[in-house]
Amino acid sequence: MTKDVNLTEPLKQYFGFDSFKGDQEAIIRNLLAGNDTFVLMPTGGGKSLCYQLPSLLMEGTAIVISPLIALMKNQVDVMNGMSEDGCVAHYLNSSLNKAAIQLVMNDVRRGATKLLYVAPESLGKDENVEFLQSVKVSFYAVDEAHCISEWGHDFRPEYRNIRPTILRIGEAPVIALTATATDKVRSDIKKNLGICNALEFKSSFNRPNLYYEVRPKTQDVDRNIIMFIRQHAGKSGIIYCLSRKKVEELSAILKANNIKAEPYHAGLDSAKRSQTQDDFLMERIDVIVATIAFGMGIDKPDVRFVIHYDIPKSLEGYYQETGRAGRDGGEGLCVTFYSNKDLQKLEKFMEGKPVSEQDIGRQLLLETAAYAESSVCRRKMLLHYFGEEYTEENCHNCDNCLHPKSKREAKEALLIVLKA
Ligand code: ADP
Ligand code: MG
Repeated sequence: MTKDVNLTEPLKQYFGFDSFKGDQEAIIRNLLAGNDTFVLMPTGGGKSLCYQLPSLLMEGTAIVISPLIALMKNQVDVMNGMSEDGCVAHYLNSSLNKAAIQLVMNDVRRGATKLLYVAPESLGKDENVEFLQSVKVSFYAVDEAHCISEWGHDFRPEYRNIRPTILRIGEAPVIALTATATDKVRSDIKKNLGICNALEFKSSFNRPNLYYEVRPKTQDVDRNIIMFIRQHAGKSGIIYCLSRKKVEELSAILKANNIKAEPYHAGLDSAKRSQTQDDFLMERIDVIVATIAFGMGIDKPDVRFVIHYDIPKSLEGYYQETGRAGRDGGEGLCVTFYSNKDLQKLEKFMEGKPVSEQDIGRQLLLETAAYAESSVCRRKMLLHYFGEEYTEENCHNCDNCLHPKSKREAKEALLIVLKA
């Protein structure tokens, strides 16, 4: 592929966009040149295009490893909607029967399919490896690459097998993409995928339109939330709780208060879950009360608030979950209810886990507690966590900047941190 190939034309032709966002063009050029590429871009930044566009321009089929079946289906539908024959993209995962798999393999073999989405557990299956050995792979894209790391917010052990499987299938350039930018996750990804020399493209993780606030969690937390929702009537929001039980309880309380809310967690059957997701996207309901099972890859641009009923297990998770608010650049209110009691509960809960997991879990939790209890600008703290320095004195969009705590309160908070 020549260096000066025109990319704006295919961008317009296939995707209907007039210009690239952020580093997209440089990323695509790096991949087209045959180099390993590492993309760190916040949610909504436009990572998918970084592999979708080059796959259309390169010889062979790009293999996209993506963790969620629902996410794959969604992307494949979008890609096929843009092409004429509806087979430019396909997916291989456990939801397909034998006949459907044959169809996919035929389209790949005859060169019609440019993008093949594969679930990580399907990738390593012998029959798939054998099949992929027989086709020309243009490159491998590892989406949501933080799933490789135990320091990320969504560790998937199958992701650790990606590198060995790539070596079996046959090497080609690798592009890894994630919205997780902590140093530990970053180095885990590079090591695990064997792309230590990859060129790194990191965008800023600042989301200026998000308002961050931490409120003490008291007896009237439910009433507090109901009032908040009423003040934002008709707007879409997500409330995260740690347990399925709490999800059910809180959504019942909201419903009893005439709020259009539904629960979402992994214990509900998949028909109910996708119904709730659709109802939320189509605005038949306003509020989803969910565990962290809800949200990855959901592209609803106008979520106006994200409430954490319980303290999140890591700052990383907090950033990803709050990041689902205000994707269109409009208002996004992120309110977290925090209590020391919750913190102790979570620590207690960890005691049943293997020691190494406990150590990681505790450290992540302590970082979250320090954030919650701090009187420093929330944005500054969050960005610092991602290795980014925020130099403004006042962000004008978090509780600590808009309503600075008195010095006394700050001192008290510090004492609590020190005692923890
Ligand atoms: P990410 O995976 O980084 O969270 P997505 O790939 O889902 O982000 O893209 C987020 C949104 O940005 C999508 O709605 C997508 O269509 C849009 N988008 C991507 N690239 C561009 C572009 N160059 N111009 C305009 N919109 C874009
Ligand atoms: Mg994505």
